[in-house]
Amino acid sequence: MNSSLKHLTEAVNFLPLIEAKREGKTLAREQIQEFVHAFTAGKIPDYQMAAMLMAIYFRGLDTAETTALTLAMRDSGDVLRFPRDARPLVDKHSTGGIGDKVSLPLAPLLACLGFRVPMISGRGLGITGGTLDKLDSIPGFQSLLPGEEIVAQVQRVGCVICGQTDKMVPADKKIYALRDASGTVPSIPLITASILSKKLAENLDALVLDVKFGCAAFMQTRAEARQLARAMVALGNECGTNTRALLTDMNTPLGRAAGNWLEVKESVACLEPGRAPMAAHARTQPQDLEDLRGLVLDCAAHLLVQTRKAKSPAAARKAAEDCLNSGAPRQKWDEMIVAQGADLAAFNQKLKRDSTAGLTVKVTAGKAGYISQCNARIIGEVIRDLGGGRLAKDSPVNYDVGVDQIAKPGERLEKRDALCRLHAADAAQARPAALRLRGAFEFSARPVKPARLVTEIIA
Ligand code: URA
Repeated sequence: MNSSLKHLTEAVNFLPLIEAKREGKTLAREQIQEFVHAFTAGKIPDYQMAAMLMAIYFRGLDTAETTALTLAMRDSGDVLRFPRDARPLVDKHSTGGIGDKVSLPLAPLLACLGFRVPMISGRGLGITGGTLDKLDSIPGFQSLLPGEEIVAQVQRVGCVICGQTDKMVPADKKIYALRDASGTVPSIPLITASILSKKLAENLDALVLDVKFGCAAFMQTRAEARQLARAMVALGNECGTNTRALLTDMNTPLGRAAGNWLEVKESVACLEPGRAPMAAHARTQPQDLEDLRGLVLDCAAHLLVQTRKAKSPAAARKAAEDCLNSGAPRQKWDEMIVAQGADLAAFNQKLKRDSTAGLTVKVTAGKAGYISQCNARIIGEVIRDLGGGRLAKDSPVNYDVGVDQIAKPGERLEKRDALCRLHAADAAQARPAALRLRGAFEFSARPVKPARLVTEIIA
């Protein structure tokens, strides 16, 4: 029998379930398990699954249905299995934004705080940078590891940052591709199931979620971000992983740098005790520059409290800060990247270079004043168009381009001070990019109070 006939004979009768969801009925756990299993095995055609996804998009899923979908997706492939160990298994997930490099310094910090961190990360698409793309800018670094090596490295080093293996959560890969093609990505239950199925496949004790809102975030409004955060926190806890979410502002880039290699550099600086953040000019107030470091410490502190390794938020924060200031996480970073194949000498040489791109251009302020806005979306779009991000899933990425020394809201600049510094491949690229970057900044004549980064905790 040829393969298309075989597919027909084995096809499941999925139509009644699509019709039930179309009419707003609730699906049973077994029905959801069955269709996820059948779809992953190729027994449900894409057009029928797309119809189901659209029905879910309009009708939603209740908590029990979302839980069933998440667990069925998690169980569509391998789940990481770790030996018994006193060190809790933890991770952080961010919904993504510009300059969001928190995972890079956080993983070694958590390892030094006595956690095991199987940080399974993704690549970027569109304006949002991906953790793996950032790490791929490190000479020799291997971001794809088989499941056994992920477990072995976590046991030995305490942390790993790598991509999902082919065997992990295959249902999400297939369903996400279909959602992308059928206009069903922005559905809270589908996003919740997609993100949490992958995190639950890491077999975690605790998870902290960084759910971003703002002009450069997946969820543009705080209300939408809150809704997604609440759904994910409820479901994570329901599935036995202690889960919390921070709602964070993504109208302004996080930190001072955006672009793959520039973010690795800033992450290393964040791990170096006493190292001043990469300020553009002397007038900047150091306490205002600590958003990256502050968010890294916040995530670590929450995980210490969630796993009862600290008695209070204040004690947790102090423990995280002391650990970061000890320099141990900086050494752990080297240990982690070497374990994943990095050439440390080449990496250190690269760190010493001021820029690895073709040229740098200082983008200057046309007038004096207080920065009132530094639009993360514009900066993300410029970097994507320089080749630093992807327009399509398989497009190549330029690791060297980006923007650093970014001036932030609240800072006072004089005319011709640097708004930021552009790293471009050549002059032809740099000219229009610099113009667009200037448009990302707005000024006020009066002092500006910067927006709070973490606006809410959902526990
Ligand atoms: N990220 C994911 O992994 N899945 C979604 O559905 C949305 C964002």
